[in-house]
Amino acid sequence: MYSSLLQETQRYNATLVAVSKTKPNEQILALYEKGQRIFGENRVQELVEKANVLPNDILWHQIGHLQTNKVKYIAPFVSCIHAVDSHKLLEEINKQAIKNNRTIDCLLQFKIAQEDSKFGLSQVDGFQLAREAKQFSNVRICGVMGMASFVDNPQQVKKEFGVLKTYFDQLKDSIFKDTPHFKDISMGMSGDYKIALEAGSTMVRIGSLLFGAR
Ligand SMILES: *Cc1c(COP(=O)(O)O)cnc(C)c1O
Repeated sequence: MYSSLLQETQRYNATLVAVSKTKPNEQILALYEKGQRIFGENRVQELVEKANVLPNDILWHQIGHLQTNKVKYIAPFVSCIHAVDSHKLLEEINKQAIKNNRTIDCLLQFKIAQEDSKFGLSQVDGFQLAREAKQFSNVRICGVMGMASFVDNPQQVKKEFGVLKTYFDQLKDSIFKDTPHFKDISMGMSGDYKIALEAGSTMVRIGSLLFGAR
């Protein structure tokens, strides 16, 4: 599965984030040995435990909802934080990045799903946060992230991904004009990554397809 998935994402010039949450280190290492370096986790404690024992050149992405009081545990090493959904969180990431003398890549998470259980910023709040982000010296906003509804309706999913792509394009044309590192649209999981790639995803987050059901 890995090599065909990798080829597929590469055809779209997209990055494959291997979502290893709940999966043991042996399974992560097996994929590492095939060349995969970017892994995504959504629980801070699990991420820290894995990062402590797995190879140093793994790029760890925090993909799920992140509580402000947990930022300090991942700030020393995390490569990208996908789910930035508040000013308070971004401020804390910046503070901890400064403490660790580094810059942390972040994505702004927009709410695109019709289901209301999902985290994420509204368009207005997200654009506002994008403007405010300039004041933070040690975070780099690299793009946007979103999760489509978990529905068996490709048209709806396509529409929701289309909304995120539009937000990205609008931000790229305004606030992040002349900002080369603003380039990523993190969307697409095991069940909907093909739709996401067609809709302009540059980063898919794939767990169960790679590692088996959780
Ligand atoms: C678990 C998770 C994924 C991967 O889900 P799969 O359906 O297993 O591919 C992607 N993104 C986020 C935010 C997740 O929590």
